[in-house]
Amino acid sequence: MRSWAEVYTDLLTGNCEKIYKFSKKDIIAVVKADAYGHDSVIISKTLEKIPFVKILAVATAEEGKILREKGIKKDILVLGGILKDEIEYFNKYSLIPVISDFESLKLVNYLKNKNIHIKFDTGMSRLGFYKKDINKIIDLVKSYEIKIEGLMSHFPSADIDKEFTLKQIEDFKSIVNLFRKNKIYPEYIHIQNSAGLIYKCDFCNLVRVGLVLYGEKPFEDFPLNIKNIMYLKARLISIKNIKKGQKISYCGTFKAKKDMKVGIVSFGYADGLPRAVSNKGYVLIKGKKAYIIGNITMDMTIVDLTDIDAKIGDEVIIIGKSGKEEIKFSDIAKISDTISYEIMCGISKRVKRIEKVKNGTR
Ligand SMILES: *Cc1c(COP(=O)(O)O)cnc(C)c1O
Repeated sequence: MRSWAEVYTDLLTGNCEKIYKFSKKDIIAVVKADAYGHDSVIISKTLEKIPFVKILAVATAEEGKILREKGIKKDILVLGGILKDEIEYFNKYSLIPVISDFESLKLVNYLKNKNIHIKFDTGMSRLGFYKKDINKIIDLVKSYEIKIEGLMSHFPSADIDKEFTLKQIEDFKSIVNLFRKNKIYPEYIHIQNSAGLIYKCDFCNLVRVGLVLYGEKPFEDFPLNIKNIMYLKARLISIKNIKKGQKISYCGTFKAKKDMKVGIVSFGYADGLPRAVSNKGYVLIKGKKAYIIGNITMDMTIVDLTDIDAKIGDEVIIIGKSGKEEIKFSDIAKISDTISYEIMCGISKRVKRIEKVKNGTR
């Protein structure tokens, strides 16, 4: 193999335990977008064995189907809701929709299992009902004999705006109370995403997290010591000497200031290493930083090996630990002016995901 991702499921379990202890709530594990690029089947099979992971959340019915076809039994919540032509999928694969508008609420009538989570918009301005819709929702739910299993809302800025987030929590709490006043007692109440874990939300009983499962902190001084569960690896496929003055890779953006030894790494932007990292990032080889020189190409990246004793075939770490060094998704995200989520989701199909059971750094 030339590029691959090792997914350490013992570290995933460790992260879940830390989240559970810290939040004192059961978990909705968000495994959308192929579990943020980690392989939703590998991830869900591990989560399936953890009793306090109550629900798996995906974005679309299609993602839910993939999990069911691989034998996943836990409840699956579809965050993106339901469209008319997806009703069959919801029935066939026993998926639970998040309902965010009246059009979708009417579709619930066609479900075998009229069991839903209702979402309220308290500030994200994406999916969700408004508080003023509650009476109409309650009327419809009663006339359709729908079971509201969950009430939820979502934080857009829990990492950066405390005042706004606290206001959302208050608003959501008042929404939950209005349902209770109408004698509707949903089993699950949830609003906290990864960044939202730092808020208390005592009236909720689940957290709904993605990023932290995979070991990435939502902001720098996040209080939980979670571990990256993925090692992203490639190999050295060639080594050569470069003379002072020689230009490297497309457009010649790097010009050697001295004679150098360089290595060609079998990982490019088609694997998911953003081209924006060219001439800025580094990879790890035998515990040492090998800086990326010249433009990253589709399938290969050139690195400085001048002070590294390496040979063709050696393993190269794109994400993960080597010796005392570690590269995290957030490091690559920072350099390429984006967020870790986008780097994770950008790991391409060519990169084979391999489950590893034990990492030992838990
Ligand atoms: C993706 C998503 C989450 C998970 O967010 P993280 O920041 O990864 O924890 C939670 N809720 C909803 C509605 C989402 O779309």
